[in-house]
Amino acid sequence: MIWNPEIETMPCLALEKLQSERLQKLADYVYARVPMYRQRMDAAGLKPSDIGGIHDLHKLPFTKKIDLRDNYPFGLFAVPMDQVTRVHASSGTTGKPTVVGYTQNDIEMWAEVCARCFAMSGAKPGEMFQNAYGYGLFTGGLGMHYGAERFGCTVIPISGGNTARQIMLLQDFQTAVMACTPSYALTLADEILRAGIDPKSLKVRTFILGAEPWTEEMRTELEAKLGTHAVNIYGLSEIIGPGVSNECVEAKAGMHIAEDHFLTEILNPATGEPVADGEVGEIVFTTLTKEAMPLLRYRTGDLCSLNREKCICGRTHARMSRILGRTDDMLIIRGVNVFPSQVEAALVGQTHFAPHYALVVTREGHLDAIEVQIEVQDGFYRELGEGRFADANDDAVRHLCARARKALHEVLGINAEVTLLAPGKAPRSEGGKLKRVFDRRK
Ligand code: ADP
Ligand code: ZN
Repeated sequence: MIWNPEIETMPCLALEKLQSERLQKLADYVYARVPMYRQRMDAAGLKPSDIGGIHDLHKLPFTKKIDLRDNYPFGLFAVPMDQVTRVHASSGTTGKPTVVGYTQNDIEMWAEVCARCFAMSGAKPGEMFQNAYGYGLFTGGLGMHYGAERFGCTVIPISGGNTARQIMLLQDFQTAVMACTPSYALTLADEILRAGIDPKSLKVRTFILGAEPWTEEMRTELEAKLGTHAVNIYGLSEIIGPGVSNECVEAKAGMHIAEDHFLTEILNPATGEPVADGEVGEIVFTTLTKEAMPLLRYRTGDLCSLNREKCICGRTHARMSRILGRTDDMLIIRGVNVFPSQVEAALVGQTHFAPHYALVVTREGHLDAIEVQIEVQDGFYRELGEGRFADANDDAVRHLCARARKALHEVLGINAEVTLLAPGKAPRSEGGKLKRVFDRRK
């Protein structure tokens, strides 16, 4: 089933025409309403009328995550606050979150693109949908919620976590469609099998999985364990949230991008120049229709490739590959974005901590765990006396770890394990790039 056949199977030329018209309007719109864009266009000697269509896209300035931080919280909004229906936020690179806003029309557009995702995933109106993405500032929960309602599913807004309850509702409510992170889906599958539940007794057929990178092997494992099928969904709050793109169940080979709303480029991250279709580069989006917080050429930091070949499902919108990596040091831990700089922001200035640390990410079962190893200052070490430092039961050590855990939780929104390192034991730069992140999940 195709949710919006007129748009989703639009001939490429007609789609490009639509994009060009929208891009011209967007150039006018942001020039008139967003000071940052007006300044950047002025600085580049660029007038809105210089944008004649998508062939002029390359003239427009880039937007980066730091621009959202510099304009925190609402400085990039293009409408007065009384027209902003909702805000969401995701992790920024420091203690402050990245804030995004939506008008009522933006919320409608978001529901529309998410409804398309449900159809692409093979869901059917009338089915029970268990939404195990987190509700709250994170866009995952509410984005999928509105999309499912628009599509016509019955929504179970259970949110993330509490595996026993998830399984109970899968059984009792006869859930047919479920959305969560891929790693959580695998945890759930293992728990179902461990509890001796026959997967055939469940109705769940469709898993819509995203918010973190995953692999074909994970898909094969999940599909085999539960006898379901799983598709990939991609999105980021800056652009809208989930629903930027989604795999069609017919091909399961790349995610169709809602190109009528999100104009897409794949660029060489170092030069900013476009790469050829099929080649890996950074995916960059321009929001063509967003009102509250339109973005020009937003550098996602996500690496993938683009495929514009015809798809067997009949959709004409281009497909992006799985996310193959990041241009920056962002980690995704249990679906939550974590930047090493946030860890630093949480810990600097706290007494007894030296400004040296290491992050170790591991996977226990299917769930990610993060350990922050923090070096203590000489003073603390001496206060405790030689030999007593390593004793995790020591009151002073326990107290210091608890304080760090609390500070990290406030900034990262997830629990981190904290261990203390003796002075001089954290990684130091040896001329080259300092390696303080050890991702042992792969
Ligand atoms: P979300 O609600 O999608 O997690 P965030 O803005 O918090 O939104 O995080 C967006 C980032 O999450 C993306 O830039 C990308 O790195 C990652 N992400 C989202 N979906 C996927 C996916 N299907 N595969 C890989 N990474 C993804
Ligand atoms: Zn397709």
